[in-house]
Amino acid sequence: NSKWSKAMTILKEFEGRCSTPMSKLRQVADAMAVEMHAGLASEGGSKLKMLISYVDNLPTGDEEGLFYALDLGGTNFRVLRVHLGGKEKRVVHQEFEEVSIPPHLMVGSSEALFGFIASALAKFVATEDPALNLAPGRQRELGFTFSFPVRQLSIASGALIKWTKGFLIEDAVGEDVVAELTRALEREGLDMRVAALVNDTIGTLAGGRYYNPDVIAAVILGTGTNAAYVERAHAIPKWHGLLPKSGEMVINMEWGNFRSSHLPISEYDQALDVESLNPGEQIFEKMISGMYLGDIVRRVLLRMAEEASFFGDTVPPNLKIPFILRTPDMSAMHHDKSSDLKVVGTKLKDILGISNTSLKTRKVVVELCDIVATRAARLSAAGILGILKKLGRDTVREGDNQKSVIAMDGGLYEHYTKFSSCLESTLRELIGKEVSKNIVIEHSNDGSGIGAALLAASHSQYL
Ligand code: ADP
Ligand code: MG
Repeated sequence: NSKWSKAMTILKEFEGRCSTPMSKLRQVADAMAVEMHAGLASEGGSKLKMLISYVDNLPTGDEEGLFYALDLGGTNFRVLRVHLGGKEKRVVHQEFEEVSIPPHLMVGSSEALFGFIASALAKFVATEDPALNLAPGRQRELGFTFSFPVRQLSIASGALIKWTKGFLIEDAVGEDVVAELTRALEREGLDMRVAALVNDTIGTLAGGRYYNPDVIAAVILGTGTNAAYVERAHAIPKWHGLLPKSGEMVINMEWGNFRSSHLPISEYDQALDVESLNPGEQIFEKMISGMYLGDIVRRVLLRMAEEASFFGDTVPPNLKIPFILRTPDMSAMHHDKSSDLKVVGTKLKDILGISNTSLKTRKVVVELCDIVATRAARLSAAGILGILKKLGRDTVREGDNQKSVIAMDGGLYEHYTKFSSCLESTLRELIGKEVSKNIVIEHSNDGSGIGAALLAASHSQYL
């Protein structure tokens, strides 16, 4: 009937806007590489901040001692205790705890957020095995993974540039997040020194390198998205400090803020952006990361309900609630293997209050999830190609079989199988068979916590 065909028109128009043929992905990759150059050339030279991490040496395996890490990411934060045993023994023991962040703290005050974190950390430290006893008078040391854009002033200090991913705490912007955390630790009466402040991408890169010396970049696809990689120090014109002995510097790209006229942006993406906490910013992130994919699906379904009565004569009220359809639920629907798409039916009913959907309707929902996830995965692959291009690793030179390993992490990459397999096959298609032999994508499971602890160890005051 005509309503159905109107709904299909909306779907097909959206699909058309989202299309990512190889030629477009190459344009996106080229634009990414161009912006990387621009961001390295001068401060403010690009949407890509290309932040200097002050990490000029990655873990070697020699790191030793008891270290803590704290990972403040998006939805959760983790505290981690690692006992490092050096070259032979490596990671002797590790323990972690995960705490979810109460939503009101994401938009409250800096003191409340850091107070909450410090108190959870203090409780965790209290569970330390007395047998691990620290040398008398020795201060505990912490690697702080803070996954928001920070302008670093040293390895253990840096000012918050802006919040992303649904956080908005005005009084913290511009402040040194290490000083904020340190004050909160003091209020808790916890004697601990922040030895390294790192982004989660840097932590993942460090953690990945500890286990595999061929790791050259890290990509996070979780609530948000970002990437980091190892750059040659002399290829960073905006760096006016001393050239590090290693000749290298790790760069936090903050690629979530990438944008380009080549990105396939639809009207739904534009609306999502305008209504977000950070309009005009993090455009790439809003198209590919876990915080947003479900909401893009919701927006298209809402349009189909409003303009084509896709779910019957009335528009299901829940469909109007921003972020009610979360990416894990989208993923569950997308992976539904049952012949009657039972999972899709249940999700539509439980989350959106839409009961008795027909199989035909459910199939359309799955198709929509596929359009949104495929665009995200293919754009992520294009971003990675951009990094490989910048490093000159997107081609093979005669007799060169130098491996390039990319450490990947984040809940979206880890759990959304159709997303990650599409990302990987797209990257293979983009770089071709020959080069593919040398490019390895490795899942670095929670490498960022371990990585931060390793960097705390290599920046210990007791070395
Ligand atoms: P963070 O990015 O907050 O540090 P994670 O890396 O654990 O944390 O990623 C969590 C995000 O991953 C969630 O916000 C969600 O968007 C996404 N995610 C988690 N589980 C799934 C899933 N099963 N399918 C799709 N996405 C998921
Ligand atoms: Mg994280």
